[in-house]
Amino acid sequence: MPKLSVRDLDLKGKCVFMRVDFNVPLSEDGQTITSDKRIRASLPTIRYVLDQGAALILASHLGRPKGKPNPTMSLKPVARRLEELLGRPVKMAPDCIGPEVEAMKPAPGEVLLLENVRFHPEEEKNDPEFARKLALGSDVFVQDAFGSAHRAHASTVGVAKVLPVAAAGLLMEKELEYLGKAITNPDRPCVALLGGAKVSDKIEVIQNLLKIVDRLLIGGAMAYTFLRAQGRPTGKSKVEEDKVDLAREVLAQAGDKLMLPVDHVVAAELVAGAPSEVVEAIPEDKLGVDIGPKTVAAYSEVIRSAKTIIWNGPMGVFEMPPWDAGTVALAKAVAESGAVSVVGGGDSEKAIKAAGVADKITHISTGGGASLEFLAGLELPGVAVLTDK
Ligand code: AMP
Repeated sequence: MPKLSVRDLDLKGKCVFMRVDFNVPLSEDGQTITSDKRIRASLPTIRYVLDQGAALILASHLGRPKGKPNPTMSLKPVARRLEELLGRPVKMAPDCIGPEVEAMKPAPGEVLLLENVRFHPEEEKNDPEFARKLALGSDVFVQDAFGSAHRAHASTVGVAKVLPVAAAGLLMEKELEYLGKAITNPDRPCVALLGGAKVSDKIEVIQNLLKIVDRLLIGGAMAYTFLRAQGRPTGKSKVEEDKVDLAREVLAQAGDKLMLPVDHVVAAELVAGAPSEVVEAIPEDKLGVDIGPKTVAAYSEVIRSAKTIIWNGPMGVFEMPPWDAGTVALAKAVAESGAVSVVGGGDSEKAIKAAGVADKITHISTGGGASLEFLAGLELPGVAVLTDK
């Protein structure tokens, strides 16, 4: 990795400012954490920093409080959970800047969690003065929030600029290692599986992956815009009319590298429990809700021969079973392929869990938007700002 890692530094007696992703789902009143997955994901770096004899300041956002304090988006429940997981006290700051917080600056071995950085509008504006206050005169910036690294905010970029050294945390390093290898030097054949709602959300990813992969398999609603571009019937399926020309250009550029579904599960309406059937040509009065069994078979064969698989996005309306069948079948194919598999996006992750194959996936990215920007070949500001090795 070209960037400095936390493992390259001597942290004894130093004060570390670490940006983590504690943007956890909370119950409506903001009191109970419904999944602590993101807290657990940063534990290795937190433990590492403390074991080295450093003092630790943790910063994160939670939800979208729009620059104002909001008790339903407080990080207080996170501090309590972190304390349980770490087995040592975590001091909770009443805010993320100000004299009270300055007075709480931790000593070596201590942990201070700052309150939600998005309670201040300066966070998202990447205000330099706010970043300087946040930094609390720390010695080292550690970036472990991969899921926020595509945002140039005060706590992801600004603090890194005011401190002498900025290094990747262990989680960040893992993300960069797996995603980086997949798009720069993948074992071949390299196959990408892209699904989801819109071509427009993933057009940069499609264009960049076409330069890298040997095969690009398309599913989800996004496939219908491509089918329309080929002049095939799409019925009432979700088609992005204003992206049909772009889809035609992509198809011409991609040649037979890009594969589209050859059959479809269709229904009369997008309503859970609506009757559905398998067709090869989508009738006028029906819309596509999942890839069909012939497509599952064809895509699975390509997946089985792959050495690297990159996957983002569901193959159908997987929230409404049985229209999750295509996505779940491909999750199993990816797991059984034995290939290095790198998965991004919450929906693909849910499908992998539903298929019961999470332990057979090489890397499930913790960053949805960030992993898409990475796959699109864009430089993430929160990575670019880290000190070069
Ligand atoms: P994305 O966030 O772009 O990965 O899109 C995920 C969403 O795409 C999910 O909510 C799916 O229900 C939706 N989706 C996938 N396939 C279809 C389809 N055939 N018709 C409508 N929505 C779909």
